[in-house]
Amino acid sequence: MRIGILGSGQLGFMMILESRNLGYEFATFDIQPGPSRAISDAYFGPGSEKDFVDSCDIVTFEFEHVSETALMLANQEEKLVPGIRSVDLKRDRLREKTFLREGEFPIADFEPAYSAEEALRKSRRFGRSILKMTTGGYDGKGQFRVDWGKSSSYEVPDASYVVEELVDFDHEASLILARDSSGKKVSFEPAINVNHRGILLTSSTPAKDHGMGQIAGKLADRLDYRGVLAVEFFVKDGVPIVNEFAPRVHNSGHHTLHGSSVSQFEQHIRAIAGLPLIKPKLFQPSGIVNIIGREMNDHLRRKILSVEGTRLYWYGKEPRRARKLGHVNIIADTGEELEKKIGAVKDIIYGKNIDDYF
Ligand code: AMP
Repeated sequence: MRIGILGSGQLGFMMILESRNLGYEFATFDIQPGPSRAISDAYFGPGSEKDFVDSCDIVTFEFEHVSETALMLANQEEKLVPGIRSVDLKRDRLREKTFLREGEFPIADFEPAYSAEEALRKSRRFGRSILKMTTGGYDGKGQFRVDWGKSSSYEVPDASYVVEELVDFDHEASLILARDSSGKKVSFEPAINVNHRGILLTSSTPAKDHGMGQIAGKLADRLDYRGVLAVEFFVKDGVPIVNEFAPRVHNSGHHTLHGSSVSQFEQHIRAIAGLPLIKPKLFQPSGIVNIIGREMNDHLRRKILSVEGTRLYWYGKEPRRARKLGHVNIIADTGEELEKKIGAVKDIIYGKNIDDYF
């Protein structure tokens, strides 16, 4: 069987690395070659969408913002897993939020707006809010915070927005699950996530569930989902509020490469290929620190790896401010030790000037 992956970034790279041993062939399509090109059995670029889809038995994606043509072709040929619905919802924030609201999932209050003027006007109702562009925004891009208690004038680019109430959460969290074609679901332990300027900085597990597993399960069923699905939450007074979902493997699940009985990457390939799923077991408290906007060098590599239990993943991408360039996986004997190690690795990478890199 040949599995096609749309997108050639680090998520696809880890999918291939983790699932090679299953004996499948992997083909990759991307607009611009990324890290996984070198380890793909075949690589396809712009103009060869049809050849790519035709050459694969099933097609999945590592990211929502991939070639629309290739997605459509894979859907037409009934090869796309997970299905087109989950991607469609993710390509427009308003569609995603409306779907969540109609499904009675717990979410932050929001209003749609079709211009900058309308977005700013509607945001006054919330006092403190986040204006999120409906398309093209991820990792904090295309998002603007407004606080009418602090300033009486704001300027944002003219665009369509989801105007969202600001949640004073206690912490952010995520839950990753896998669902197969029979509807069977298995979940990874929830993770606690810390974002900096809208980008995931650290993540650690295990964490309290607070009902997140049930919410994520209901979402997967509603989407008749197949594959690995990640759901991001705000947790306030022990109550989870869905922020968004990702129909794919997720940055907060990278720790499963070491601390769990199965990685999210192999689990995804199992789910889409129709293989039995593994019930994930967390062997040790595990976490990650993302390397963002910071170039690697020998000194830094040595310092990071001098923290016991760390593994380094460098994606080999062109360094750029606020870009995810790699991550460090960390395991520890206790949750307390894990937090200490995460703090130490974070300090080694960013020192006191984290904003220089974001
Ligand atoms: P998103 O792209 O929607 O995941 O947003 C990126 C990050 O911005 C989140 O992980 C939060 O840290 C923050 N954020 C987004 N929406 C809200 C909200 N309604 N209230 C508070 N923080 C938010």
